[in-house]
Amino acid sequence: MKIAPQSEKSISDLDHRHFLHLWGTFQDENTGYTVIKHSKGIYLYDENGKKFIDGPGGMWCVNLGYGKQELASAIADQCMKLSYSSPWFSTTEPATLLAKKLSSLTPGDLNTVFFTTCGSTAIDSAVRFVQFYFNSIGKYNKKMFIAREKGYHGSTMMAASLSGKERDKTLLDTIEKNVTFLSDVNPSLREKNQSIEEWCHLKVSELENTIKDLGPDKVAAFVAEPILASGGVIIPPEGYHKKTWEICKKYEVLYISDEVVTAFGRLGHWFASEKVFGFTPDIITCAKGITSGYIPMGATIISDTLISRLKHSNAEYEPIFSNGYTYSGHPIAAAAALKTIDIMEKEHVLPHVQKVSPYFQKKMTELGEKYEVIQETRGLGLLGCLEGQSNAHLENKKQLKFDYEFGNLVDKAAESRGLLVRPIINLCVFSPPLIIQKTEIKEMFGILDAALDEVQRLNF
Ligand code: PLP
Repeated sequence: MKIAPQSEKSISDLDHRHFLHLWGTFQDENTGYTVIKHSKGIYLYDENGKKFIDGPGGMWCVNLGYGKQELASAIADQCMKLSYSSPWFSTTEPATLLAKKLSSLTPGDLNTVFFTTCGSTAIDSAVRFVQFYFNSIGKYNKKMFIAREKGYHGSTMMAASLSGKERDKTLLDTIEKNVTFLSDVNPSLREKNQSIEEWCHLKVSELENTIKDLGPDKVAAFVAEPILASGGVIIPPEGYHKKTWEICKKYEVLYISDEVVTAFGRLGHWFASEKVFGFTPDIITCAKGITSGYIPMGATIISDTLISRLKHSNAEYEPIFSNGYTYSGHPIAAAAALKTIDIMEKEHVLPHVQKVSPYFQKKMTELGEKYEVIQETRGLGLLGCLEGQSNAHLENKKQLKFDYEFGNLVDKAAESRGLLVRPIINLCVFSPPLIIQKTEIKEMFGILDAALDEVQRLNF
């Protein structure tokens, strides 16, 4: 996604000078980012008019694609009607109706919505709620959070501290106290003679043993994405979710399901926890697709079971959940979310995802079988990942360099042909807009095929 800056004072030039990007580096050779000028449907256009398929769907978020007039009008109308009202002292129609709508889409008795500004703040709010909950019911020792290697939960201090992507931490400090990590659940890491069932048992037992080692009276919650998205679209072994949920229930450990990526249709359902993986968490966090990426919003959705315990707690102080953001339940964002859900229902987006996903997955698998440079392909719904072949024979340092190169080489080769991918070190990840049609999926994988052919020639 990087190009050289153009003339003096071009956007690219000014960007390079003043805009510190996410996961930015400080080296001069990193000369700039593609300037995206406009968009339509699943396509983005750069400043020279070059057209790209948006492979990552923004950042797993532009579910309805770009340029949805109805969505833009809902946002504009709400701007003129009521652009802001303090969530401390008042409520608004869009925020209240959205809370009600969300509770009708969530599994089980998850009926109370705490609005946030993004996924990271949804995770932070979930953690703060869990701390508040146990303190309120007198279980003051329940302070530990269990998370997983390769998990990603965001960039606020607490969300980053629960994230288990080692290479993201580098020179950044995190809070290590009260957070314990379980090992990678990726089934491809199992021994050759180990069955999926054995692998699942091992990973579930690891959770149970960790709870027992830490002391069940000290463990507050388990935080997990149904599919570890940024960690490389890692799908835990079948049965894992339900079994880990049962372990959590056994020890009164709350289950926070981080559905920031998987909610709002990515796997063909409003929420994946129950419909795809068969369990009902205590808390769900979501963001991104809630507004189809048109405007920032997140939510932490809490079960009635937890809320009712608070209502009947005998705490010393009146329990006040003093956590929140100026823009919690922002009426414009809420109007965008209501309209996103409305369009998804009217346009039958969920059945569409269920219909085109097998084709998407088949095209990806075919590439994996065709190219030696790919070690593995994996995915579910409209979520996919290519993992580059690791040159295990190379010594560590060189291997790291090759790892980095795979994602970037595919990115470069695909971008020059009109497809944006999301390179993550040795991986390329895809989550196109959910409105993508079969012909567009074909076009996308056609470009990828040519890009991989180029990368394979370079490396093998
Ligand atoms: N949780 C998951 C699973 C994510 O993938 C992300 C971001 O990619 C987050 C949380 C953080 O969301 P945000 O970037 O909106 O803060």
